[in-house]
Amino acid sequence: EGVLYVVATPIGNLDDLSPRAARVLGEVALVAAEDTRHTARLLRHLGIAPAMLSLHEHNEAARVDRLDARLVAGEAVALVSDAGTPLISDPGFVLVRELRARGRRVVPVPGACALVAALSAAGLPTDRFLFSGFLPAKGGARRARLEALAERDETLVFYESPHRIRDTLADLAVTLGARRVVLARELTKTFETFLEGSAHALLERLAEDPDQARGEFVVMVAGAAPRQAGEAAAIEADTLLAALLAE
Ligand code: SAM
Repeated sequence: EGVLYVVATPIGNLDDLSPRAARVLGEVALVAAEDTRHTARLLRHLGIAPAMLSLHEHNEAARVDRLDARLVAGEAVALVSDAGTPLISDPGFVLVRELRARGRRVVPVPGACALVAALSAAGLPTDRFLFSGFLPAKGGARRARLEALAERDETLVFYESPHRIRDTLADLAVTLGARRVVLARELTKTFETFLEGSAHALLERLAEDPDQARGEFVVMVAGAAPRQAGEAAAIEADTLLAALLAE
């Protein structure tokens, strides 16, 4: 019986590739990779040279039948993305959904994932969190997305690129106010840093030290403070009083 292994790869430090992931990548008949040249470097580092096929957001749907045929023939295939866990803000969802719908075996080989690494060391609540991937690129849509999350009391988690980190911090300051924000930058790499403060303070920090705006980011924001018991009732009473006084 064929199987698709969904294999996590490092997000920076190559030592984070698990021995099991290395073994699976060495044993499969084919590695489907987001960027075959990028993955070829990792495979060279492991000293293996499996057959590869590109699988990215633009050709994913068209690749399903071809990969399924390999599984039906009894072969094992691995899916990897450029970094971290496939399907997490990365290609693979369509493939996995279709293969599962056809009754194929899909097996996770877990490992690095930037959002989990960031949460595990940030010091924000992790009992409940809301991962919202990349925010929209355009300012209006980005602020609308943030406003829609303003009442959520879970820790909010986003992915962000160096091009937009300043704009995103500015929009966080406007939409979510003075909450605690933690920026996890360059996780597992040489210049790994955690910065924390209000969105406004972090913007100032990045302006003072532009090096802190380089690299890859996970942005974490404290959830909305839960309303104190009685607070809603007090607001209602105030509104009523104001209306009565206006009369
Ligand atoms: N599949 C990946 C995972 O499991 O985390 C995420 C892929 S997504 C296309 C890339 C984004 O993940 C980056 O823009 C950044 O927000 C985050 N990311 C990836 N590696 C990171 C790292 N080493 N440090 C901080 N953020 C990282």
